[in-house]
Amino acid sequence: MTDARVVDPDATIDLLQEMVRIPSPYFEEHDLADFVYAWLADRDLAPEYHHVSEPDITGYEGDNVVARLEGNDPDAPTLLLNAHMDTVKLVEDWAEDPCSGRIEDGKLYGQGACDMKGGLAAIMVAFEALAERDLAGDVLFTAVVDEEGPYGLGADRLVRDGYTDDCDAAIVTEPGPVLSQGDDVENPALVLGARGRFLYDITVRGKAAHGSQPEKGVNAVVDAGRVAEALTDIEVGTHPELGDGSVCPLLLDGGSQTLSVPERARLMVDRHVVVGESEADVRADAETAIAALDLESEVDVSFREAPEPDIRYGPYVTDPDHPLVGSLRGAAERVTGVAPAIAYFSSVGDFNYFGERAGLPTVIVGPDGENIHGAGEFVYTDEVVEVADIVVEGASDLLG
Ligand SMILES: [Zn+2]
Repeated sequence: MTDARVVDPDATIDLLQEMVRIPSPYFEEHDLADFVYAWLADRDLAPEYHHVSEPDITGYEGDNVVARLEGNDPDAPTLLLNAHMDTVKLVEDWAEDPCSGRIEDGKLYGQGACDMKGGLAAIMVAFEALAERDLAGDVLFTAVVDEEGPYGLGADRLVRDGYTDDCDAAIVTEPGPVLSQGDDVENPALVLGARGRFLYDITVRGKAAHGSQPEKGVNAVVDAGRVAEALTDIEVGTHPELGDGSVCPLLLDGGSQTLSVPERARLMVDRHVVVGESEADVRADAETAIAALDLESEVDVSFREAPEPDIRYGPYVTDPDHPLVGSLRGAAERVTGVAPAIAYFSSVGDFNYFGERAGLPTVIVGPDGENIHGAGEFVYTDEVVEVADIVVEGASDLLG
């Protein structure tokens, strides 16, 4: 270990434990948001609530918590720190209280301990430490709601309300290597990109007829199955860092329980994409594949309904030569004594909003753990502290 120990390890883990003990499944983050707000306010870090409202589809009302450190040079860069406060819904298979925060053998257990209250605790104590330093650039702290929910409404609202407009780079402390591509990556690791994701929502309309005479109708369920198979065969994009895209039919719904040829079916298909594949490409791929089937059913290709048309998880890759990467690389090496691995995320999250929609060079650096989203989720406590130190050292280097 080195001299680059910055945050108080015990205080950091106490904070994490306290937050794991506050349940915060998505759409129910209010208590944790109040806790984060109060924690920052107690330290004179001037938190603000940033309201998130989505009345049309989810009916959700909640609050992000944001705070800003002003640097002394308006021309210096501004760094966004981001973590989400919500977890998945508590799963039922836990052999103990899913919010126990129990610590054993350096592992802290609880739903969301790794994804991502560990990362949230890390940026909170990092932000507190950065407030003590005389930096040229600004730091924008953001703890958001609804990352695990359907649309990433908290981060979406940050982007939509202009919080990212004056930012120059972003650090997101999501779980690191455990959610990265490749099995051999270990912390310290800098995750420099992620694939994007679209969800096809496809309607198939056939023609009803008596089920004893199927030749007189057009069977929408059969045709939806053909569409599912054709989409699975789409030639997906490939990228040197992000790997291959993928297609996975998720849902096929339709038919009747009476003796009728089903006239309607609905198909939802997940499509992960790499840099270079646009929404228009993704739509055209499906339409071309479906046209080639020459079905009797009418098939309508659209995307999952979203509160706003520009809510999308686009793919991005951060330039490994960007100053943020250099600063974090040096910081990781000073803190851990090891040069960090470079990795790429396997799925999507709020980081796609920062990396692609807001166009910010975005790096994920986060503590590792296991059983993410499941029973027995835990985070390695020493990695939470390490990540906090890396964020402080990396941010200090970048912001001068
Ligand atoms: Zn997460």
